[in-house]
Amino acid sequence: MRRSTLLILAGVLTMVAEACTPFFPVPPPPPPAPPAPIAADQRCSDGTSISSKVVALDVKYNPEVDGTSPPQSIGLSSYGSWIQKAFNLATQDLRDRLCALDKIYIAEANTDHAVWGIREKRNRTRHIGISKELLDKIIGTWTSPYAQYEMEIVDNLLWRSENPEPDWLRHLTYKVVGDSPSIAVLAILAHEIGHTMWWHRGVMNLKCDGVFFANLTWDRINIPPGFHHFGDKQRNKSIEDFDIDDMANLLSAGSLNALISNMHQVYEDGNWANLFSFVAPDEDFIETYKFQVLQDAGVSKIDLEFPGTSGAPDTINVLTNFASASSGSPLGKKKAWIASWLQGACKDPNGNPAHP
Ligand SMILES: [Zn+2]
Repeated sequence: MRRSTLLILAGVLTMVAEACTPFFPVPPPPPPAPPAPIAADQRCSDGTSISSKVVALDVKYNPEVDGTSPPQSIGLSSYGSWIQKAFNLATQDLRDRLCALDKIYIAEANTDHAVWGIREKRNRTRHIGISKELLDKIIGTWTSPYAQYEMEIVDNLLWRSENPEPDWLRHLTYKVVGDSPSIAVLAILAHEIGHTMWWHRGVMNLKCDGVFFANLTWDRINIPPGFHHFGDKQRNKSIEDFDIDDMANLLSAGSLNALISNMHQVYEDGNWANLFSFVAPDEDFIETYKFQVLQDAGVSKIDLEFPGTSGAPDTINVLTNFASASSGSPLGKKKAWIASWLQGACKDPNGNPAHP
């Protein structure tokens, strides 16, 4: 939450006029089309409204230590309509999973955890939490809410110090076509539901086409149960010869050329959806799922820009790279793995069909 420069996306539409003269009289213009009907809010398959699950949490709740006892709500939250707007844009799969949640909490008190997704081991209930502070930025302050949310993620992954962030990071920006507050909320819901389904469905133990998800881009896998901190790389080792901590160290040391080279490798070599997916196998699964949800919701471009080695801006077409990953690339295989799982084509450890 340190960013000082705000990016404003400007869309310029150029009208190109046809210059030749028609041979025939131009017919009168057709009558104006009737206004498009306003789409009705989507509902859960049992007819209930998702906003009926969105409740306010006024006390400080720490999901890290209180994760085994569900937080107590103080009644419906006024932010339910924002969750509903994001829900309207969600894939059917994501809607079904959101509808299966126990609650979506809006944390009124400031907390160290801006968002969380929890599946309780004891009774298997799942809940998601989003801080009101973050929602207020998305709805009211940020001009490009999803782009700014993604910038915050990269900022926090690469710069862990309280000191002012370096110039290079301050000039890193996202440019998103199709951005809106609803898209930013949708991205949060897709990510946090991913954490709940990873544990609820035991995704790390499933095989699609005989392969575990984590085997596709992780060399050494250690997925400890329990609360997973933001940016916590655990003891997993990816197929790259560097990790997120090495990249953060390069930034601290001012070794920008090496960092820029790593950024290109992560985003452009067909191994990862983005930097967040490079942190741990569950975040990898989740961010890959999230990008598929965002694409389906109409996000058509996610570009990342930062100063390149010459100082001139480097642009990475993050979503284009994601969408065009070849089927033989590790990222293409991860997308296909998730698609197979969603179609019920994967197997549990006993060799039975795994429930998506
Ligand atoms: Zn996460």
